[in-house]
Amino acid sequence: MALLEVEDLRVSFPTDDGVVQAVRGVSFQVDRGETLGLVGESGSGKSVATQTITGLTRGADVHGRAVFDGRDLLQATASELREVRGPGIGMIFQDPLTSLHPAYRVGWQIEEMIRAHQAVSRAQSRRRAVEMLGLVGIPHAAERVDDYPHQFSGGMRQRVMIAMAMALDPSLLIADEPTTALDVTVQAQVLQVMQRLQSDFGTAIIMITHDLGVVAEMADRVAVMYAGRLMERAPRRDAFYRPHHPYTEGLFDSLPTRGGQRLTPIVGTPPSLIHPPSGCPFHPRCRYAFDACATDVPALEPVDGNPAHVSACWLSHDSSLRERLRRAMKAASSS
Ligand code: SF4
Repeated sequence: MALLEVEDLRVSFPTDDGVVQAVRGVSFQVDRGETLGLVGESGSGKSVATQTITGLTRGADVHGRAVFDGRDLLQATASELREVRGPGIGMIFQDPLTSLHPAYRVGWQIEEMIRAHQAVSRAQSRRRAVEMLGLVGIPHAAERVDDYPHQFSGGMRQRVMIAMAMALDPSLLIADEPTTALDVTVQAQVLQVMQRLQSDFGTAIIMITHDLGVVAEMADRVAVMYAGRLMERAPRRDAFYRPHHPYTEGLFDSLPTRGGQRLTPIVGTPPSLIHPPSGCPFHPRCRYAFDACATDVPALEPVDGNPAHVSACWLSHDSSLRERLRRAMKAASSS
């Protein structure tokens, strides 16, 4: 049984301008110990989806199911969700200062979090805080446990955040752009810490990112979101080397190359989620779009009969049509 099974998740928010349909029928699962990379441009709904699962989207209209460890979190009360956050699901955000209180010592904050969920003495929670700071690679952890967040560099603060999220040994860690604010070297170090802890603790991870380099480093499987919908889901290798959805293909085409080749960004911008496009939401930006794309929504279906690789594109459903279109486009561009 999957650790987390999300089924037909729909999340919308009323605003003065209209209803924002942030997540529109998303389904995915996370198995114990695996890493799912959840990727897409800003506003694709990836953060809203995971925040909703953990009960952090107040005022939203939510439908669907999100069964974690046998319990539907979308039906849980606020106090039940507080019990799940921490011991069941740990969270790391892009900016550790949103989670670490600047006025309290980091050790005290980790200890408080432990004592909020476990009947342990002050000495025990203190020992655990020092142990966790050591595990994430904070040098001289026994001394630094009494430092304030501002006394750590950005990378070290992110390590503190990881120590806090992992202190209760959660079975799932949701990491939302955890390395986006860090430079490349520090990013690699933080990812290594996460990988080591994941292997020691057997934790599953949802890695939310727009950085495909992070996905390449960490993910076992990749789920691609656009305009509140899932566009493609595949094992990492298939997503990188055999993407079937034009949006996934566009994300990879826009990656910088070591040889300094020109990037090919996806033309246009993500749509308004107050008035999302009809049909396939990617059709206004898709180089392969044809008439049906503007009116009919393609379902998420297996690619070449493989249930592990699914794509929501009419062309993925019909490879001969895809080839015909590609040939026609090539002929048009060379004439
Ligand atoms: Fe492009 Fe049509 Fe496929 Fe959407 S369904 S990605 S518009 S070809």
